[in-house]
Amino acid sequence: MHLDLVTIAGAEIAVAAVLAGMFLLVWGRDGWSLEAAPRFVGSWGLAALVFSLGGGAMLVSALFSSVNGLVVGTSVAILSAGLKWHAARRFAGRQSAPVWILLGPAVFLLAAFLGLAPTLDDRFVIACSILAVYGLAASFELGRMPDASQSWPAIALLRIGGAAYLSWIPIALSSPLMSLPAALTSAWLPYVVLVTMLLRVALAFVVLSMAKDRDEEEQRRFAYTDSLTGLPNRRALFDAAEAVVERRLHGGGTPVSLVIADLDHFKDTNDTFGHSIGDEVLRLFAKVFRESFDKNHTIARLGGEEFAAILPGVDGDEAVEAAERLRESFAQAASFVSGLPVGSTVSIGVTADKDVDSGLSSLFRRADAALYAAKSAGRDRVVFVGREDAAVSGAENSVVRTSPTRLDVQRVPSG
Ligand code: GH3
Ligand code: MG
Ligand code: MG
Repeated sequence: MHLDLVTIAGAEIAVAAVLAGMFLLVWGRDGWSLEAAPRFVGSWGLAALVFSLGGGAMLVSALFSSVNGLVVGTSVAILSAGLKWHAARRFAGRQSAPVWILLGPAVFLLAAFLGLAPTLDDRFVIACSILAVYGLAASFELGRMPDASQSWPAIALLRIGGAAYLSWIPIALSSPLMSLPAALTSAWLPYVVLVTMLLRVALAFVVLSMAKDRDEEEQRRFAYTDSLTGLPNRRALFDAAEAVVERRLHGGGTPVSLVIADLDHFKDTNDTFGHSIGDEVLRLFAKVFRESFDKNHTIARLGGEEFAAILPGVDGDEAVEAAERLRESFAQAASFVSGLPVGSTVSIGVTADKDVDSGLSSLFRRADAALYAAKSAGRDRVVFVGREDAAVSGAENSVVRTSPTRLDVQRVPSG
């Protein structure tokens, strides 16, 4: 099969331009949840646009035998590869300095114009090397992501592209392009263009699908996050709690505790110090709350000034201890907020379960009863209500009286 270089190069440029238009259209549509996905699509579109301009300049220069034009066009095409690497790096959550995007084109221009790469084949080898480095570096960035397995098609395509660029170096050395316009009749160069075009199209679809997945993931995260504190929200907690109960019903045997915390006299805090200090106190509590529990425990802001933590594998004693530490840490941290003597405190209800038969609603009912008892008993304290003392009347007996030096736990026997 004979491929005409000018025809296939023209097609490649047109394909890149169409892809750029498609990416920029998708990028500009409404309804993206957050920034990462549209930024990926936008950067990739920009890279495609830059490639179509550089490729166009290369083709026109080749047709008019302009060596300098070909050098400049090639450096613009290399810039496009740098932009793709940058896009992959941003997608993986890392910043990159513009200098690295410009380094490849700059090295190529310097090599060409300082006479280090005097022949067309020298420049072809240098361009292939730089393009391979950018492609492999982009695959490396995606491969370093925590959920890299989802990006494997892009990683594979970028690696195939990198390997392809490297494999053309020995071909150019054994069968040189010589110079313009002889290079236009090269037997193998059209196949190089064909391969890069196919990889470009395949990668475009993969990138779009990755951006869509990322956007969905961000939307999900958004729906499960409280915007003021950044903690998981009520929905996230109930999902996690259901999963815990489900696991226990099947596995059984491990304890689970539930902690519900409510800031004391928070309305007064708002009234006295203003709503923005109130928000500050909520964020402060969220921070102390997060630090008081393990990473595998789901903590959440249920709404307003009410927070909860579901603690699989933690028995009542440990949960009460953690709650008590939380109460103390918060009282200390919130004595002054933004220089104001806020003195905020928290009341905490705790319950725990050893068996599998008690469901989620009874767990929440008991934690609520414990919280109510803590409020009734004067606030700024932790109350535990065990399995058998769900009736609020029993709660006076289960007050965990807290003092600065001693934790005096009394509770109604459970079981
Ligand atoms: P108690 O000790 O009995 O819990 O009294 P409280 O004042 O904390 O309870 P109450 O339920 O009467 O008041 C809760 C207050 O929390 C009222 C509401 O304005 C405030 N609040 C709810 N959400 C927010 C928020 O996002 N920011 C701020 N600043 N205040 C909030
Ligand atoms: Mg309150
Ligand atoms: Mg409340």
